[in-house]
Amino acid sequence: RGSCASDSSDSVISTGSETDSQVYKVVLLGEHGVGKSSLARVFGGLEDAGHDCDEAGNTYDRSIFVDEEEASILLYDIWEQDNSQWLKEQCMRMGDAYIIVYSVTDKSSFEKASELRIQLRRARQSENIPIILVGNKSDLVRSREVSVDEGSACAVVFDCKFIETSASLHHNVHALFEGIVRQIRLRKDSKEE
Ligand code: GDP
Ligand code: MG
Repeated sequence: RGSCASDSSDSVISTGSETDSQVYKVVLLGEHGVGKSSLARVFGGLEDAGHDCDEAGNTYDRSIFVDEEEASILLYDIWEQDNSQWLKEQCMRMGDAYIIVYSVTDKSSFEKASELRIQLRRARQSENIPIILVGNKSDLVRSREVSVDEGSACAVVFDCKFIETSASLHHNVHALFEGIVRQIRLRKDSKEE
């Protein structure tokens, strides 16, 4: 295919159909050090995450195919960008879906995840927003402090999905984002009917 700019019909075709254009805003929440930025980098395709760049905040824009349909995700890793109450409230309000991350090697981050779930429920009371609770660092078998059963039991109590991941090994990271897209679609479909 030629790259002639005046061939407008061609560029219309290549931008895809209208239905693809919906962008889902997904927000990462969780205590410092649990692996939010690492998960975001794997999602964003920056797989050589060997260097721990401690940038304040990032947003990742990526389209993935889930069940043969394309979905565009804007992933916000901005929860720790600053300590202002304004930002926290903004985060709680802006998402179409949330990923609440704790580390399976850190019990207090697990307790913090429950707190965040409660805050989120309060901020978005009447809405039924998709939430996935993520136990990250599943590769650190010997320093585990939170069992799989505790994680999934917590998710049942809080009425959200649950998955364990390892950003380091890229384990279940793709499944996590597929899960988010499926949940968003489910809620949307049930609203439309
Ligand atoms: P954030 O503060 O939540 O953004 O956490 P980071 O992504 O900065 O990760 C904190 C530290 O945990 C870094 O040193 C990461 O390399 C490490 N880390 C993140 N995810 C994993 C994981 O799945 N397994 C292991 N072993 N380390 C991880
Ligand atoms: Mg971070």
